[in-house]
Amino acid sequence: MSSDPATVHFVGAGPGAPDLITLRGARLLREADVVVWAGSLVNPQLLEGCPAGCELHDSARMTLEEVFAVMRDAALAGRRVVRLHTGDPSIYGAIREQMDLLDAAGIPYDVTPGVSSMSGAAAALRCEYTLPGVTQSLVVTREAGRTPTPNRESLSSLAAHGTSMVVFLSAGLARRVQGDLVASGRDPDEPAAIVYKATWPDERVVRCTVGTLAESAEGAGIDRLALIVVGDAVAPRAGHDRSRLYDPSFPTGCREAR
Ligand code: SAH
Repeated sequence: MSSDPATVHFVGAGPGAPDLITLRGARLLREADVVVWAGSLVNPQLLEGCPAGCELHDSARMTLEEVFAVMRDAALAGRRVVRLHTGDPSIYGAIREQMDLLDAAGIPYDVTPGVSSMSGAAAALRCEYTLPGVTQSLVVTREAGRTPTPNRESLSSLAAHGTSMVVFLSAGLARRVQGDLVASGRDPDEPAAIVYKATWPDERVVRCTVGTLAESAEGAGIDRLALIVVGDAVAPRAGHDRSRLYDPSFPTGCREAR
């Protein structure tokens, strides 16, 4: 009689610094028999937390089919599998397609969230994306490149809302990002930044404006492993409001007005 397959654990590795993985993620790595990790972006120092003899596979060199075959064979053999993704797995993690294959094979899985690089970039910039009186929304998107984005999600149509924006996977397309932002009506003098390898020892922050995004990225030689962050929340020009939450005159569920 065959036993039940083991659960495959999708784990967010965090943005880079090895102590930014969650406690749960670190425990799952300590207990893993097999780890499939995204070698292009996950800090290899995290693998030092795996037990001796743990089998490691770098997914940067593998196809979806190969990743799935490793996870399936290990799970069916009752081995503990961790699929280690950079940042948070729900953001450009390509996890749905893996979960579809696991579903079809009857293999259970769970997901441990991670600190996304967009949080790492905000920390590097010391910024609050949802700054009262400036914007209460954050658009997370990418420039259309080799992977298309749906027409209704063109960067310029999203930019027209004037919210804070975090643009993934587009550092090499900074000129196109800049063009789309300006075409959407964003002020060329509006603050922007390029954050390279947020939370890694070689993190770099290049502060610029919408109108100087491309020359700043090119001048710094940054065309990958970076986020483009746009909006007055990055470096408020015209001031901002204080929050209602901590305003003495504003009662909340936890505090009366004073
Ligand atoms: N799931 C990841 C994103 C994966 S897509 C997350 O939540 O962060 C890969 C893209 O993420 C990169 O091209 C880059 O745009 C961004 N990225 C990942 N790690 C980064 C880091 N430490 N600093 C800046 N950008 C990063």
